Amino acid sequence: MGRAGVWRFARAFLCAWFLAISWLLLPLLGHGGGTARANSFGVRVPILAYHNIDHSGSAYSTSPEMLDAHMVWLQANGYTAISIWQFWDAMTVGAALPANPVLLTNDDGWESALTFAEVLGRYGMVGNYFINSVSPLTADQIRFLAQNGPVQAHTATHQHMSQLGYDAQFAEIADNKAYIEGITGLPVRFVAWPFGDWNASAVEAAVAAGIVGGLGLGGTGCVVGGVDLFNVPRIMMEGPDTIDTFAAKVTAW
Ligand SMILES: [Zn+2]
Repeated sequence: MGRAGVWRFARAFLCAWFLAISWLLLPLLGHGGGTARANSFGVRVPILAYHNIDHSGSAYSTSPEMLDAHMVWLQANGYTAISIWQFWDAMTVGAALPANPVLLTNDDGWESALTFAEVLGRYGMVGNYFINSVSPLTADQIRFLAQNGPVQAHTATHQHMSQLGYDAQFAEIADNKAYIEGITGLPVRFVAWPFGDWNASAVEAAVAAGIVGGLGLGGTGCVVGGVDLFNVPRIMMEGPDTIDTFAAKVTAW
């Protein structure tokens, strides 16, 4: 068994272990309060991937007005935005989630990430930011985002990770993690894979750098406890989306 094989085995073992432990602990968790679920395994969490928030009309661009309409729709339909940390606690030990959880993510660290934070802030929704070291955002702007939600890794220079060797993969992740932590003073434990592109070696490098989970691109809603922790699916928000296609994407299994 090669290094990748050993790692795959270890990961499968850990997943099974977490699942077993959480089921054993389930009776101890009680029933929680309100609409929270004591054990969230099996709960569907749509994870929405946004990029630019502007009027460019590009494929990866959502207008501020459409983003606002998304938040209105989510609020009207009883969704609660959660942080990547809440999501992680649910994924690993089945920790309680609010009813209709949704995870809102913003990639790359364009200046319009500030617009994203501003629009979400109107609705009390938390955003999760995945930022490259080459992002045009200043340190002050990144600290501002960190006050509005977790700021996490997106690699230093946004390469296709599967096309790099292990050392370069490690440097891309570790350097970016150190860059963000140096600015925010807060822990970085998650990476959003640039282009949704990764391989076994990239996962090994991420783990060696202190990352515990990776987010992909493409796919539908994520089922808690039912996905690879380093290939968590996200739903891409695209320029041509209308509010109806948005609603369909959020609710489709
Ligand atoms: Zn990106």
